[in-house]
Amino acid sequence: MTARILIVDDVPANVKLLEVRLLAEYLEVLTANSGTQALELCESTQVDVVLLDIMMPEMDGFEVCERLKANPRTAHIPVVMVTALDQPSDRVRGLKAGADDFLTKPVNDFQLVSRVKSLVRLKTLSDELRFRAEAAQKIGIEDLFSVMDGRLEDAGQVLLVDSRGSSQERIIKILKPVADLLAISDAQAALFEVNENNFDMVIVNGSLEDYDPLRLCSQLRSLERTRFIPMLFIADHGQESMIARALDLGVNDYVIRPVDPNELTARVLTQIRRKRYNDRLRESLQLSMELAVTDPLTGLSNRRYLDTHLKMLFDRAALRKIPLSICLVDIDHFKDVNDRYGHEAGDDVLREFSTRIRSMVRGADLACRYGGEEFIVVMPNTPLEVASKVAERLREMIEKTPFRLRSGAEISVTASIGLAAISKDYLSQEQLMRRADQALYQAKHEGRNRVVAAAA
Ligand code: GH3
Ligand code: MG
Ligand code: MG
Repeated sequence: MTARILIVDDVPANVKLLEVRLLAEYLEVLTANSGTQALELCESTQVDVVLLDIMMPEMDGFEVCERLKANPRTAHIPVVMVTALDQPSDRVRGLKAGADDFLTKPVNDFQLVSRVKSLVRLKTLSDELRFRAEAAQKIGIEDLFSVMDGRLEDAGQVLLVDSRGSSQERIIKILKPVADLLAISDAQAALFEVNENNFDMVIVNGSLEDYDPLRLCSQLRSLERTRFIPMLFIADHGQESMIARALDLGVNDYVIRPVDPNELTARVLTQIRRKRYNDRLRESLQLSMELAVTDPLTGLSNRRYLDTHLKMLFDRAALRKIPLSICLVDIDHFKDVNDRYGHEAGDDVLREFSTRIRSMVRGADLACRYGGEEFIVVMPNTPLEVASKVAERLREMIEKTPFRLRSGAEISVTASIGLAAISKDYLSQEQLMRRADQALYQAKHEGRNRVVAAAA
């Protein structure tokens, strides 16, 4: 892992000290000796983490942090404040200014490297998501973020796994102002809880009775539902190698006993904030991907989705030697609908037509708008005889009930359907499509409003 770390300190000797340590880890280092210079650098070049001294002339670290976090172009860059050990109130102020993490002077090597690396990991993930969300916006999908506004600041839901009652009580008390805490002593029960509920983060005490805390962390990282959940580890002095293992396993952060209340609060809030930001990006990404494969008029899958998905369904059917049917549906004389009632009316018909198709298909079926007034339903694990019955029912359903337009007028619509299937004989995907197409052509040719199945 490599990343660009910006060290900000007005004392050159302090800069040098941190620089040497980071360079030894093959991290890239930029330096600034004032707040103004730091802000300029963050705006003009890529910076992955900022290590920020508090006491500086002109602009102090709090102000630099506030400005970074207030600027949309730099708000996502993690900021680590370097505080003096005898100034616990600095942490509270730093937290208010939006700092993501803290280090105390004199800076401990292990803490410096592990904290920086953990922030770089988090940022890499956020960057990736941000990049994709931006790409989605570029192709015209806006306002994805407004969907979740407000949720960022709700109290965090935190699960604490700790087998000692006294330690549980202490942590509950510390975090009460910022989070809702559920404390559990049993690791198995904790795994169950995290899987069943929506927690924002998990705190694991490194000295669990009867269970390896590292195993718990690795299980949480490997389960589908909890893969992204932030984890914070509580360790004892001298447990560096255990912490290093924990960080390797994907634990996001740690504190060392005796737990400093300000530090724990700051770290928990940072993790929750990051988690929500990433959740939000992930949701917006998901939404944009759904939009990219959905036909906007009808809400059915579009052709792009069909092209990739049909291949998968087809290969699976061929491999397992199970049948698969496809059903091409084309509205009859649809051009006349447009010509007589207008394009808007045509759209109404397309929407209602799609609703009827959707009401016919099962969960495993794939219904798509294939082109203008052409639809396709892919039916996995369905032999031709069954698909014929489904198609006939659909045809009837279209013919029987007139389509109501927005204007109030009702018009009769019919559709022609071509069917093809793979069963025992192997067809290529193209052959299958061609057969369905030929069947549809035949249905049109024989007078429309009918189902024709390609001979198997
Ligand atoms: P056939 O029975 O042979 O299928 O005749 P048809 O008129 O349905 O077929 P044709 O392919 O000649 O015409 C399809 C029409 O569908 C032409 C096009 O204007 C219309 N169309 C395609 N997409 C849309 C759409 O999104 N909205 C509306 N209103 N009309 C559309
Ligand atoms: Mg048509
Ligand atoms: Mg057509």
